[in-house]
Amino acid sequence: MICLNQVILCKYGELVLKGLNRSSFEAVLIRNVRRRLKSLGDFSYSSRQSTLFVEGDDSLCDFGEAMERLKRVFGIAKLCMAVSCEKNLDDIESTVSEYLGESLQLAQSFKVEAKRADKRFYLDSMQLMAELGGRILERYPHLTVDVKSPEVTVVVEIRDNAAYVHGMPVDGAGGIPVGTSGRALLMLSGGIDSPVAGTMMAKRGVIVSAIHFQSPPYTSERAFIKVKKLAAKISEYCGQITLFSVPFTKIQEAIRENCPEELFTIIMRRQMMEISQRLCEAYGFSAIVTGESIGQVASQTMAAMVATDSVCRLPVFRPCIGLDKKEIIDISYKIDTFDISIEPYEDCCTVFTPKHPKTKPTLAEVERAESGFDFEPLIKEALDGITQVTLRPYEEYDF
Ligand code: ATP
Ligand code: MG
Repeated sequence: MICLNQVILCKYGELVLKGLNRSSFEAVLIRNVRRRLKSLGDFSYSSRQSTLFVEGDDSLCDFGEAMERLKRVFGIAKLCMAVSCEKNLDDIESTVSEYLGESLQLAQSFKVEAKRADKRFYLDSMQLMAELGGRILERYPHLTVDVKSPEVTVVVEIRDNAAYVHGMPVDGAGGIPVGTSGRALLMLSGGIDSPVAGTMMAKRGVIVSAIHFQSPPYTSERAFIKVKKLAAKISEYCGQITLFSVPFTKIQEAIRENCPEELFTIIMRRQMMEISQRLCEAYGFSAIVTGESIGQVASQTMAAMVATDSVCRLPVFRPCIGLDKKEIIDISYKIDTFDISIEPYEDCCTVFTPKHPKTKPTLAEVERAESGFDFEPLIKEALDGITQVTLRPYEEYDF
C-alpha cells in the first residue's frame, strides 16, 4: 500500500537565467508564496533544481485552492499538482494508477513523458517512457499511445530525492517575483486600463502602491469603493497594496475657475502628476505608473503626454502604451478586473470635462494657462489630506 504524498511543483521561468542573483530571487519568491498560502494550511517550501516544492499534510492543507493562488504568483512559469513516490518502477506504476487511474480509465489515448534529473537512476528517460508506457497499456488495454495529442499525459520526473508523477503542467503567471525590481506608484482610476498597467509592472517584479484622486461630491463613495475593490483584486497578483486617496475637489474647482476650458484635462493631469511625485519622494517610490495608451483619448496624445511628463522628475511608466483597447480588455478578463472596472461610477477625470479638449497642447501654452493661479497651497492641502488603506489578497472585505 503506498501513501500518496501530495506536492505542488512550481517551475521557475526567467528566474533560472538570473545567475548569481538567483538565490535572492528564489528567496523573494518563496516569501511571496508563503504569504499567499498562509491561510490555507501549514505548507513547507523547498527549492531544488529550478523548481519550488510546496508540500504539506493533505488532510490539513487546501491544495486545490493553493494551486489557484499559485497561478497568480509572478516568477512561476508552470505548475502542477504531483505525488511523490519511491524511485522504482513498481512504485511509480502503482502511483500512476492511484493518482491518474481515473483519467486513464476514461481516456482513449495517452503518452508518457519522463525526465531523469537524477542521472544515477538505472533507466534513462527513453527507457523509462517505454517501460512505464508498456505497463500502463497492460493495466488499461483499451488505451492507445498517441504522442502528438494524447488525452492524458503521464509525466514522471526522477529527481534526487524521489520520483514525482503528474499530468500536464498548467501555465503560471510568468514574470519575476514581486519585490525584485523596486517600488512604483500606480495612478489607479476606476477604469479598465490602470489595474492592468499595475499588474503588468508587478509582473516585472515591481512592488506597486496606488494613488487615487477623488473629488467629492462630484465623485461618490461608491466610486472609491470600486477602486478599493480593484486594488484588492490586483493584490492577488501584486501582493498587498497600499492605496493612497487624495482629496482633489478644490484643485479641480480652481482649474475650472482659473484656466481655459480646452486645457482643463491636461492641467488636471499635471496636478495629479505633481502630487503623485511628491508622494513618491516622501515614500521612496522610484517611478509613476499610469494606464495610458497612446492615442486612446484626447489626453493621451503624444503632445499631451509630453506636457504632463514635463512636471515630472521621476520616470513615468505606461505599460499599456502600445496596446489596443481590446488587448487591454483581454488582460483585464484574465486578471479578473473587467467586471469591477465596468461598474458605472464616475471618475474625477470625467467631471468638468471640456467639450473640445485640445489634443495637441504645447507646453508653453499649458504653462501660461496655469501661471495665473497659484496651485501650491492647494497642492499642500491635498497632500495633507491624503488617507491610506492597505488591501490584502484573499481577505474578506465587506465593500
Ligand atoms: P482607465 O481605464 O485606467 O481609467 P482611461 O482610458 O479611462 O483609463 P483616463 O481617464 O484618461 O484614461 O486616465 C488615464 C490614466 O490616468 C489612468 O489609466 C490612470 O493611470 C490615471 N488616472 C485617471 N483618473 C485617475 C484617478 N482618479 N486617480 C488616479 N489616477 C487616475
Ligand atoms: Mg479613467
